[in-house]
Amino acid sequence: MPKLLLVEDNEMNRDMLSRRLLRKGYEVVCAVDGGAGVSMASEQNPDLILMDMSLPVLSGWDATRQLKQTAGTREIPIIALTAHAMASDQERARAVGCDDYDTKPVDLARLLSKIEALLAAKKPGTAA
Ligand code: MN
Repeated sequence: MPKLLLVEDNEMNRDMLSRRLLRKGYEVVCAVDGGAGVSMASEQNPDLILMDMSLPVLSGWDATRQLKQTAGTREIPIIALTAHAMASDQERARAVGCDDYDTKPVDLARLLSKIEALLAAKKPGTAA
């Protein structure tokens, strides 16, 4: 079962999204700020990260940049989640190394298709 790391500081969003992903059969681990997200990514070795961009301690932008510059976490696909449906955010997400981008409130079917596409694209042998 693919393991997802959800980095989200808003308790309601975190609980709701993690429960919906669990129901879809994913294993879900959560972090409540960008700093915890970076440590959990290396401890938990998730198959994919869902990263809120507006986070305390370390923003999602900085956490993503850090993860993508670190051997051992740089191969983990990251989907940026932001409330702002602005094209500039999408470009910024790509610039810091996010593999995909989606906006909140989450459309679960759309998000699931992005998760599945990235998991399918992962090269065999890199998941270990
Ligand atoms: Mn947030």
